[in-house]
Amino acid sequence: MTFPVIGVVGGGQLARMMAPAAVALGFELRVLAEAPDVSAVSAVAQAPVGDYRDLDTLRRFARGVDVLTFDHEHVPTEHLQTLIAEGVNVQPRPDALINAQDKLVMRAAIAKLGLPNPAWAAVSSVADIVAFGDANGWPVVLKMPRGGYDGKGVKMLDDAAEAAAAADWFTAMSPLLVEAKVAFSRELSALVARTPGGEAKAWPVAESIQVDGVCDEVIAPAPGLPADVEAAAEAAALRIAEAFGVTGVMAAELFETPGAGAGYLVNELAMRPHNTGHWTMDGSVTGQFEQHLRAVLDLPLGATGALGDIVVMKNFLGGANADLFSAYPAALAAEPTVKVHSYGKSVRPGRKIGHVNVVGSAGDTVDDVRARATTVASIIRDGAAPAASTSTREGQR
Ligand code: ADP
Repeated sequence: MTFPVIGVVGGGQLARMMAPAAVALGFELRVLAEAPDVSAVSAVAQAPVGDYRDLDTLRRFARGVDVLTFDHEHVPTEHLQTLIAEGVNVQPRPDALINAQDKLVMRAAIAKLGLPNPAWAAVSSVADIVAFGDANGWPVVLKMPRGGYDGKGVKMLDDAAEAAAAADWFTAMSPLLVEAKVAFSRELSALVARTPGGEAKAWPVAESIQVDGVCDEVIAPAPGLPADVEAAAEAAALRIAEAFGVTGVMAAELFETPGAGAGYLVNELAMRPHNTGHWTMDGSVTGQFEQHLRAVLDLPLGATGALGDIVVMKNFLGGANADLFSAYPAALAAEPTVKVHSYGKSVRPGRKIGHVNVVGSAGDTVDDVRARATTVASIIRDGAAPAASTSTREGQR
């Protein structure tokens, strides 16, 4: 009896959170780590350090793994093509992955599928941006098609003068992507998984709340989402996954636009487990990390139903507290229903270092569940319980 070996390129928190799922199923997970101290290294038995941009390093790492998958989307697609030609089982394949690497490729592919994009264009000069803004209305959103994350590589431009001030962006990359600034009511995430054999499953569509371009909180299922928009968003994500040949987990980040068109627009795609899917670890029959492993191994997918009417995920970013564990007694005592996931990272301001999940109980409101998650995340981040509110909450239970 041989259990499979899964190789993950990249040693961030996403690779780290695949480890418990691999252990549960009896798989071996190996990680190609960027450095000896990255998040996933302490969670797996083998984590060679190497540069994912170097073909020979990838080759060496791929030797002896049954499937090669990813913690991030930055591995050069030409290297992946070479590995595939040499017989490596790469999931997802580079022709799918390119849609998560390059927002211009993604916009064109979404348009080809007939799914709703914001107005967009490829621009090579300030004059192109101004022409787009004059035609589609200001403000506009200028984006680096490649390499952006957490809002880095995204710039809102109010008028032609601001467009002129962004001229230096073209020295970094050209063409750039420009989009109409969408007046969305909130951001949604349609999370799906698909196997090479074509089985696909969707989790309930979730609401994601971003602060300064960084995912802060996710509420699942998205409260009050009209059934037709939920169905359309889910169908769109499944359609994208199938049309692009996605394998593993894919998150389609969407803008909700009530009363306009389909009720949503596609923002961007991630082809890996995603921050907006962390709620599934404790809030769904099958968590996204387990599902990703099942999917890339072409195993049957697990059920994706939510385990409660309201599930909340709240990130904690690096803050005042440098010694996270010192806050655990207060944090865990404050809210026994909350599950803490810490990424083993050193604390730096604004860095994603962990999250909490909480599944609501019957009778809870969305605000109750959000407050519980926020209480625990805040105690860990800041290192001290807001004494009054903690004792009040304890008194209520
Ligand atoms: P990243 O790849 O850095 O996550 P995104 O393209 O998701 O970049 O943009 C980051 C954030 O900027 C989004 O979550 C959204 O809040 C805002 N944003 C991006 N594109 C638009 C748009 N066309 N209209 C309005 N807001 C946008």
